[in-house]
Amino acid sequence: MQNTNSGIHHLSVGGSTVTALNDLVFEAGTGVVAGIPSEEAETILRGNFRRMPARISVSAFLVTLGGQHILVDSGVGANMGGGQVRPRLSRLGIDPSAIRTVLITHAHVDHVSGLIDEHGGAYFPNAEIVMHEAEAGHWLDEQKAAAAPEAAKGAFAIAQAALAPYRNRLKLVKDGQEGVSGIRAQHFPGHTPGHSGWLLEQGNDALLIWGDIVHLPGLQFRQPKAGMVFDTDVELARSTRARVFDMATADKLRVCGMHLDFPAFGHVVKASEGYHFIPEVWMPTA
Ligand SMILES: [Zn+2]
Repeated sequence: MQNTNSGIHHLSVGGSTVTALNDLVFEAGTGVVAGIPSEEAETILRGNFRRMPARISVSAFLVTLGGQHILVDSGVGANMGGGQVRPRLSRLGIDPSAIRTVLITHAHVDHVSGLIDEHGGAYFPNAEIVMHEAEAGHWLDEQKAAAAPEAAKGAFAIAQAALAPYRNRLKLVKDGQEGVSGIRAQHFPGHTPGHSGWLLEQGNDALLIWGDIVHLPGLQFRQPKAGMVFDTDVELARSTRARVFDMATADKLRVCGMHLDFPAFGHVVKASEGYHFIPEVWMPTA
């Protein structure tokens, strides 16, 4: 058993603090992999000493900046068996009413379900929800929802339910625009049409919260061609992943992601085959 990790991890980025909040780890299996043969995926995962079936970690991030608390994504809420973002926030002494902004990477179940309470109301009563305009344009389009294949209808229903109580306080942004002061949207399409990272810049320090560029770190750094069956556009997600890996390596940019192994902070470097993720070294103070 490894149960000593609190699922809460702080990191200083310039004058701000970014806190990783682990929501859950779930069993996904190699059936979620698209774009490469599942045998290749399993060989790479086993070579990286990953447990099988493959597991996916889910986290959300809290940015504390200028006395404000900004949440980036909200976890699974009551879906997928229930997540831990809410108890972890309360353990930090942060009331839902204190969250004034939630930056959303994309409107999938494990990112937006935590926005609503068990009655479908706003869990964050004072929050403005910020996302890329193409993400809202996709999931909130009734015609697209009606025309979606049966298997995709559930995803539309989940996204619409999560955003419903916030319809009059949705802020939509384009690539490069600020969600809040000091945090800019980076449009990384493919996983979903408006999938976006959030780039936090603090003086000389920066952190790219890259959303779902990677779901299986034990596979996709070594083999970036591997996508996910739930990518809206596997090919576009693949070219975006290549672009973001190049950006992170060229700029030596510190990154974190919702599905990187907790606490999910680190750097990407080129390897002889594919890329390699170097986790941030733990320090007793953030
Ligand atoms: Zn996800």
